[in-house]
Amino acid sequence: MPILNADLHCHSVVSDGTLTPEALAARAAANGVELWALTDHDEIGGQQRAMAAAHAHGMKYLTGTEISVTFASETVHIVGLGFDAEDPRMHEGLQATRGGRGARAQEMSAQLEKVGIRGAYEGALKYVGNPELISRTHFARFLVETGVCKDTSEVFRRYLTDGKPGFVPHRWASLKDAVRWISEAGGAAVIAHPARYRFTATEEYALFTEFKAHGGRGVEVVTGSHTAAEAMRYADTAREFGLAASRGSDFHSPDESHTDLGQLPFLPGELTPVWELLADRIR
Ligand code: AMP
Ligand code: MN
Ligand code: MN
Ligand code: MN
Repeated sequence: MPILNADLHCHSVVSDGTLTPEALAARAAANGVELWALTDHDEIGGQQRAMAAAHAHGMKYLTGTEISVTFASETVHIVGLGFDAEDPRMHEGLQATRGGRGARAQEMSAQLEKVGIRGAYEGALKYVGNPELISRTHFARFLVETGVCKDTSEVFRRYLTDGKPGFVPHRWASLKDAVRWISEAGGAAVIAHPARYRFTATEEYALFTEFKAHGGRGVEVVTGSHTAAEAMRYADTAREFGLAASRGSDFHSPDESHTDLGQLPFLPGELTPVWELLADRIR
């Protein structure tokens, strides 16, 4: 297959992005994306709109989501691609995964109150497009709006992360369940942005080994959250574990994202692009 501009990771207002699925599709097409997937956190409510908009702009489409998983006491993200978006077990699994977000958000707000930041829950809600999907990103936007921090990266340095005010530990889906929901719905499970996890070498090895054993098929090598060196490193990991490689910007917002849709280096040669495994799932 010739080199393809595939962008298989981004977020809309259905989770913690600021653009609609239609606006994202228009932006992706304008940036030269040929194969696109919308991968909202723990949600597939935007899939029909995204696919219709992709087709209206002449792009091919793969269904997508990004499932929150707890592995070795850390949050890991598993991207699902090319699954049947009508699959009932996928729907149930994602709904259960989203389930605890409301109470978690209330607790985050209570913690922020203790360090003098009032009304964070209500403030974050103003940015929420989907009431079932209140995320740390929405709190981050409120903390920027109120001048507590100058941008969202400062928020995640000072708040909302382990050991900082506003962090509430949460138990997400298991790795096994997330990979199974995706695979049994005909899709491919992909480890998202592996360089972002704070794992020891042993824990990372366990993640890849267990992911593979559960039927996981790919790893993001080129992503908006990897440096060139990290991409090289995970190209090696993909080869070592016999995983296909994915490419995605993880675009959230024109104001917040450093990497725009489709504006990424191509995958290193010799790797199998994950979309080759999903040729019969591309619409
Ligand atoms: P949640 O699923 O509510 O825990 O929120 C996770 C989201 O927060 C991620 O998908 C990112 O959009 C955002 N996020 C987490 N860490 C950072 C960071 N260091 N910089 C910017 N955004 C971050
Ligand atoms: Mn996000
Ligand atoms: Mn992620
Ligand atoms: Mn993401």
